[in-house]
Amino acid sequence: MHIKLWGTRGSLPRALTHQGFKDALQHLLQLALERGIKEIGELQTFIADDGCVPLTCGGNTTCTEIRHRGDSYIVDLGTGLVAFAEEQRAAGNRSFTFLLSHLHWDHILGLPFFPQVYDRGCEINIYHVHDHAPDYLRIKFNGVNFPVRWEELSAAVNFHQLRLHQPHRFNDLTVTPFLLDHPGGSYGYRFDSPTAAVGIAVDNELKRRTADELGADRKLYQALDALLFDSQYDSNEMAEKYDWGHSSPTLGIDLAFQEMIKTIVMVHHNPAADDQRLRDKLARAHQYAAATYPRHRQRWEQVQAGGPRIISGYDGLELEIARVS
Ligand SMILES: [Zn+2]
Ligand SMILES: [Zn+2]
Repeated sequence: MHIKLWGTRGSLPRALTHQGFKDALQHLLQLALERGIKEIGELQTFIADDGCVPLTCGGNTTCTEIRHRGDSYIVDLGTGLVAFAEEQRAAGNRSFTFLLSHLHWDHILGLPFFPQVYDRGCEINIYHVHDHAPDYLRIKFNGVNFPVRWEELSAAVNFHQLRLHQPHRFNDLTVTPFLLDHPGGSYGYRFDSPTAAVGIAVDNELKRRTADELGADRKLYQALDALLFDSQYDSNEMAEKYDWGHSSPTLGIDLAFQEMIKTIVMVHHNPAADDQRLRDKLARAHQYAAATYPRHRQRWEQVQAGGPRIISGYDGLELEIARVS
């Protein structure tokens, strides 16, 4: 299964400022100096090497693409959807499958700016779990909040309601919604293909952590090959952000150790965090995972020595996920 992250910020887009660009440049040059790079050619090779990214996680709100056997599934319609639209237009694609976790602004803001909704030849199928989701989405296009009314959209937009914990099949790909902990309700999705299992758990405060508390949701986390996890805050911020609906990386790492999740991808980054803060957050996540590993070594040693892999998501990141057995 292939994942592409089109938007990795939570709550609000974050623009790259002049100062932010200078900070990124300074960070890059510092890394280059540490490598002993002196020639422009060496610098170009270094920049082209994925090892030196991400200099920035980007600023678009949440939008994730799952690709399987040539089909594409978009979870959440944040501002990252606009870049996806450009790629799709260039490829000539006119049929789209979207899934909604919930209807907070940062998860739907891209839809009015998705040019394909104004194209008579396009078909968009939107899957959701919330009751009345179509009404909540349509009301944004009321001529006041946005100049175009829903009835004026040219594309054929169809809604489909999914049921909690009930698998839905798209050919040989199964998608199962599960409950997240978030004000107003939010739903994660587990994608099972013959070759991998990927979960998206955004937005999620993960207040329910034990097997008993997770109940029927627990099995949707178990043995995932990768989980996109709401990592908006640092663990030391969680107390003051209680009930805000978001998690820290440490909660995801604990969950991964407990449920044998092989890779945690940190997403839904705090829009107030600059890139250095995000790099620090990733470094602390690695430290926490390393300190936690000895307690779980026995279970993990034969499966994936070292425990869960931890990645910090950024706009444009692509991951190929295969089953770890
Ligand atoms: Zn959000
Ligand atoms: Zn939300």
